[in-house]
Amino acid sequence: MEISLKKENEKMILDLIRSRRLPHTVIIEGDSKDERDNAAMLLMCGAICSSDDKPCLSCRACKKVLEGIHPDVFIPKPSKKLKSGIISLNELRDDYLSQASIKPNEADIKIYLFTDADRLLREDSQNTLLKIIEEPPQNLLFIFTAEKAKALLPTVRSRAHLITLSRIFPMKRARRSPPQSPTASSISMNTTCC
Ligand SMILES: [Zn+2]
Repeated sequence: MEISLKKENEKMILDLIRSRRLPHTVIIEGDSKDERDNAAMLLMCGAICSSDDKPCLSCRACKKVLEGIHPDVFIPKPSKKLKSGIISLNELRDDYLSQASIKPNEADIKIYLFTDADRLLREDSQNTLLKIIEEPPQNLLFIFTAEKAKALLPTVRSRAHLITLSRIFPMKRARRSPPQSPTASSISMNTTCC
């Protein structure tokens, strides 16, 4: 996947990476799912990149993250048996968190990314994660993305570094041409992207 982010959002993530004080838990909130996902991807590359100038997006580690095949990156998915888009506590524990205390395979750090965490994680799952977040093993990074961080438990939020992405405004729809303003209408109709 290629990373595409609004400039100011990209800067926020790069500043965090380059501060060299990466927190154990980060919440990325913002109204655009694409922007949240891209921001999380950039942060993961920054955390796992093997180059001096992080994130280079071209080293082996970065490429594996971008291709979704890095063995130290875990992205829990909703349980197939549950139709509501959530992950069951059992699957979260058995399939993912059971490996949290095991050393990373290739990188210096192990990453868990919970996309749309407000929908994916029920309260019981968040409470289970909280136990790890409170005293995280070394070299573990948790990233949660959500439209609004407030949808996550306050106890989780209080232990996380919050990044609020700047709003993405959808392109204005071409207004239907009111009969009295044909000029304005033709301008908006001719406005095409790229
Ligand atoms: Zn890299």
